[in-house]
Amino acid sequence: MTVLDTTAEPQGWADKITNGPGGYGGVEADEQWAAEVRRLVEQRNATLLAHNYQVPAIQDIADHVGDSLALSRIAAEAPEDVIVFCGVHFMAETAKILSPDKTVLIPDQRAGCSLADSITAEDLRAWKDEFPDAVVVSYVNTTAAVKALTDVCCTSSNAVEVVASIPADRDVLFCPDQFLGAHVRRVTGRKNLHVWAGECHVHAGINGDELAAQARSHPDAELFVHPECGCATSALYLAGEGAVPDDRVKILSTGGMLDAARETRARQVLVATEIGMLHQLRRAAPDVDFRAVNDRASCTYMKMITPAALLRCLREGADEVHVDPETARLARASVQRMIAIGQPGGGE
Ligand code: SF4
Repeated sequence: MTVLDTTAEPQGWADKITNGPGGYGGVEADEQWAAEVRRLVEQRNATLLAHNYQVPAIQDIADHVGDSLALSRIAAEAPEDVIVFCGVHFMAETAKILSPDKTVLIPDQRAGCSLADSITAEDLRAWKDEFPDAVVVSYVNTTAAVKALTDVCCTSSNAVEVVASIPADRDVLFCPDQFLGAHVRRVTGRKNLHVWAGECHVHAGINGDELAAQARSHPDAELFVHPECGCATSALYLAGEGAVPDDRVKILSTGGMLDAARETRARQVLVATEIGMLHQLRRAAPDVDFRAVNDRASCTYMKMITPAALLRCLREGADEVHVDPETARLARASVQRMIAIGQPGGGE
């Protein structure tokens, strides 16, 4: 990807951008930054996508905001040949898998995901060796290499449907999210569902005691759970366990959550997900008091996509995401099998 000629730029962005182990910094998300980002997006003929958990400034400047799968599908249909994916690495990989002929850029390739990292391709290969006849179902929060070893992907919206579509006598290996796996096992009653013990570090901020305590201290509030990332699958599990009253809990995709925000008669809504989602909800329904179940539920990886990182990405055409063609082909098949089974959810 070409490095744009920016020698004549008046702002001297190159001197401002710093780089440390926590990511790129040194740039304020002000009007000048916004104008420069949009100018470079046009110059590169790019589509700018932002996940719901990105910082508000990046959500506000993106062409589309949504969950990972919806964004990847938008990427595949976009007329532009460059996709700038503001999210974590496995998400940008999924966009590349679905758009193999496009250039996919991520503002900082160090933005990983603790859930996706909890199972490697080697781990999955060894697990499959133990259960050679099993069907592998992987949550979309996995690397391309893991998806390539997967029979069917799933999201939290369709995990039950995907598992239910597998003949009852076949073992199922479900990875990597233990909460989503436990939820699916409970709903399907399936004993031959083996669950990998992976988890997202952010979910720890949304534990059962806190969820129940918040529900008790806000008796009139509704509770929205958006589990499309791994961070709130524990809340999904806890809601099913009865940790909070059933009638007040709504398990919703992004699109469903935004619709519910516009339609709710509740004056207060507790939101069990990564705190970035609050920005979209407050924009959709400014009169409702949206509160995080835990305001420390913030994904450090998502927040590595800083204003400085986005600017550097657009200036330098980096970091480019590569997936080797055979891995991409196999991974794409596992995503397409999921789409063929049913609604992948995430109405974004
Ligand atoms: S919130 Fe959790 S599952 Fe989502 S990207 Fe961050 S670490 Fe991964």
